[in-house]
Amino acid sequence: MADRYLSFTATAPGRFLTARLGLPQPAALIRWTPERPSLEGHLLYLTAGGPSGLDLAPVLARTGLPTATEAAAGPAGSARPAAVVLDATGVRDVDTLAEVHAALHPVVGAVAASGRVVVLGAPLDAEDHHQAAVQQALEGFVRSLGKEIGRGRTVNLVRLTDASAAESTLRFLLSPKSAYVSGQVIAVGTAERSGGPADPARPLAGRTALVTGAARGIGEAVAETLARDGAHVVVLDVPQAEDDARRVAARLGGRALTLDITAADAGERIAAELPDGLDVLIHNAGVTRDRRLVNMPAERWSSVLDVNLASVLRTTDALLAKGVLRTGGRIVATASIAGLAGNAGQTNYGASKAGIAGLVRSLAPRALAGHGVTVNAVAPGFIETRMTAAVPLFLREAGRRMNSLAQGGLPADVAETTAWLAHPASGAVNGQVVRVCGQSLLGA
Ligand code: NAD
Repeated sequence: MADRYLSFTATAPGRFLTARLGLPQPAALIRWTPERPSLEGHLLYLTAGGPSGLDLAPVLARTGLPTATEAAAGPAGSARPAAVVLDATGVRDVDTLAEVHAALHPVVGAVAASGRVVVLGAPLDAEDHHQAAVQQALEGFVRSLGKEIGRGRTVNLVRLTDASAAESTLRFLLSPKSAYVSGQVIAVGTAERSGGPADPARPLAGRTALVTGAARGIGEAVAETLARDGAHVVVLDVPQAEDDARRVAARLGGRALTLDITAADAGERIAAELPDGLDVLIHNAGVTRDRRLVNMPAERWSSVLDVNLASVLRTTDALLAKGVLRTGGRIVATASIAGLAGNAGQTNYGASKAGIAGLVRSLAPRALAGHGVTVNAVAPGFIETRMTAAVPLFLREAGRRMNSLAQGGLPADVAETTAWLAHPASGAVNGQVVRVCGQSLLGA
């Protein structure tokens, strides 16, 4: 279902009218294409709280954006940065927190449309409540700036201690691939040096990825993006969707696997299908059966919990226990902002998706220690799919506008976020639930 309001506000009369009426004015987002793989303009690199000791310069240099360290000194005479990275890891008290304001206040207005502001923070220090207070303050700062910055620009916070372990994350956030990710706080740990993929354009070459619910919608886009990145994809969907699953698989040079993920033996059947093992497991299949709790029969509850949560737990356990997921493997599950914020009529769905966040947080450290596998989740907001096209008109319009970017996301936005988490160089990103919601007003 096309977003006609977005097209209308892109016209001169549309801009005029919506400005006069005080209506939202979504900006057309710049997304990744093969012709435009990076942002256009330079990257402004600033610090607050003194030098942090992070060796960021070489990492930023590899984003493909020329770096400047002073606002006026943009390469090619351009004073309009495509991105600003503020290293605030050295902020330890309220006085040095003022340097965050001092650094960004003069430049934030100049950031190009669809540009990026990335603030780097340190982990909260359990021994120093002043440091913890001002490092936590960065979250409120970033989320507030995300809500006011406008023009398709995004603002995110990355907590890190090791610049090179955060390279894949910074490259993602500083690229058009993260167009619909804003207001997020992402913690990056440390990782052993992997040397990076042999072919940076095809980081998943030689790897196998299985995507559940991939015959259409977000799952189809995820399969497509992982195939673009070089993966051999297995397109899993229910037998009723066999034709679509085969069509998607054929287009991507992968293969279809039709089975109901809620089957008790789904894990065994996947294992049998993948004798050489699996590198990337994407739990995307999901259903809604909305109704208020007072009117919800037990069957509506259990069918949603079974597809969205129980089958994810079962297949994850089976594939880890059988050693099907190889060392260096990636699991990405699909949560939802409805699970983080709650949604009327969705007690079943909200419970199932919050359950995904719990699963990720608990399993991530153990899966990494025991199997060398990371476990993360994406939490989509309003994404333009058949699922949301079925939402009644007014609710659909509200869903589209109630976020900082004032528009719905596309399946490709969730797919790019998934591809970043699945990247071989993202081994230090573990246990994260990353919202792909344009900074939805629902929830934090
Ligand atoms: P969709 O309904 O378009 O696609 C879901 C796919 O999952 C379908 O192909 C379906 O056949 C498959 N599927 C359902 N039950 C299955 C089962 N038992 N076994 C195997 N496959 C099964 O949905 P979508 O909008 O693409 O959503 C994908 C995921 O993203 C879901 O987990 C959904 O909850 C989540 N999500 C979507 C949105 C959104 O705005 N569209 C928002 C938040 C979260």
